[in-house]
Amino acid sequence: MEQLLAVELGDSYKPNAITAVCGCTDLGHDEVRRLIKAKELKTIPRVMQALEWKTSCGCAKCRPALNYYLVCDWPDEYEDDYQSRFIYERVHANIQKDGTYSVVPRMWGGITSAIELRKIADVVEKFDIPTVKVTGGQRIDMLGVQKEDLPAVWADLGEVGFVSGHAYAKGLRTVKTCVGSDWCRFGTQDSTGLGVRIEKFMWGSWTPAKVKMAVSGCPRNCSEATCKDVGVICVDSGYELHFAGAAGLDIKGTEVLGHVKTEDEVIEHVVALTQMYREQGHYLERIYKWAKRIGVDEIRRQIMENGEARQGYFSRFIFSQKYAQVDPWSERVSGKDKHEFIPMSDLKLEAAE
Ligand code: SF4
Repeated sequence: MEQLLAVELGDSYKPNAITAVCGCTDLGHDEVRRLIKAKELKTIPRVMQALEWKTSCGCAKCRPALNYYLVCDWPDEYEDDYQSRFIYERVHANIQKDGTYSVVPRMWGGITSAIELRKIADVVEKFDIPTVKVTGGQRIDMLGVQKEDLPAVWADLGEVGFVSGHAYAKGLRTVKTCVGSDWCRFGTQDSTGLGVRIEKFMWGSWTPAKVKMAVSGCPRNCSEATCKDVGVICVDSGYELHFAGAAGLDIKGTEVLGHVKTEDEVIEHVVALTQMYREQGHYLERIYKWAKRIGVDEIRRQIMENGEARQGYFSRFIFSQKYAQVDPWSERVSGKDKHEFIPMSDLKLEAAE
């Protein structure tokens, strides 16, 4: 078959052809990631120089990818390149079709309180926010915020402890939970508490693409854990770990990773799985696509059967979190990237003049 294709297609036929990251290089994502480590490349210009990029500054495809790979590989040394991020990751809010932004604070495991809800109500009134929406990830979205108001909105939300929900990020989004054994008569374990624990452990981490998680208190699965990137189903004997689900452009049920007995083991396995994906995923590749490329059995082998590999992933994630768990909203309230939120000119005023 290969010979036939070679005869038919001539030079354009390349067996096992690698898809290049973009037009700036002939290298694929795996090769770029491997060489970043092997050659200890620690800045975007160094990567481009050492790997003979064809363009001087890269493009909108390769720069965010390289920025992610460097953040992942050198968490303590690489300084995140703000210029290589898309607008929503630069301003830490989702841009909407009318040019305004949406603001989603983190609600750990979907839990909130009267104090938090009162603060959201105050912010909505004070900044005249037109729409307040409950999201599928069990959080509250304030839509229609003016860009120049974002730091003041975050400052007010921060007064009651709200931090960014990273609803715009290629990183950990939500950990959806059900009420579990605290309230539900079918609950086998404290699914809410476990979801909060996972979210507090893992928030802030950058990943190749967004990561959504869920914990259900029993196989009735009210938090829909079996269509998430990572899901946990609590059962009488412990916890069933799932991964590689999808419920967006593609619909796919999860694969079973394995079974563990304690909450600590859940954290260790989920974190190790996520770190394996962080280290091997191609930029913008969701977990279910990465799992298809690497092989579900291989992932199971490394995470469930190879304790040494699992511990390695786990400790590298913990090390990286030391540098990742910084709330971007409070940084900007303190003045970081101030220029992003100052309008270049008042068009209404100029039109009136
Ligand atoms: S998943 Fe089970 S424990 Fe959780 S709310 Fe539904 S029935 Fe209750």
